[in-house]
Amino acid sequence: MEHITSTATIKTPAERFTGDVYLNLIEAPAEPARLAVGLVRFTPSARTNWHSHANGQVLYITDGVALVGTRDGEVARATAGQTVKCPAGEEHWHGATDTNFMAHVAIVVGDGNGDGTTWLEPVTDEQYAQALATVNEKP
Ligand code: MN
Repeated sequence: MEHITSTATIKTPAERFTGDVYLNLIEAPAEPARLAVGLVRFTPSARTNWHSHANGQVLYITDGVALVGTRDGEVARATAGQTVKCPAGEEHWHGATDTNFMAHVAIVVGDGNGDGTTWLEPVTDEQYAQALATVNEKP
């Protein structure tokens, strides 16, 4: 057994995120399991760039309201206690709403060369505003 009593909070890089986003890495991918787990905390309006995961991703929301968008314009609105699963290879982004913080536990299985995430371009302010409008239209 290994008891890890604390992890450091690091700021995520601006070339992969818009706004202020903080990561506590709980588990880094290592052979043979390749499991990677992180607690990711987003300030209001902060979000990831577009990206995909080689083996998919599970997002477990622990605080606030999460937006998860895909290229087809679909946007999931998920609250604390809910889970969003992103299939392998599907380009998507995740982030907070414009009014609240959001935190999720992000779980992936790496591809043997890091965590298997392919990072793409930022979510534009227009794309983000459209996502907010889309979820606000839902009952
Ligand atoms: Mn993701």
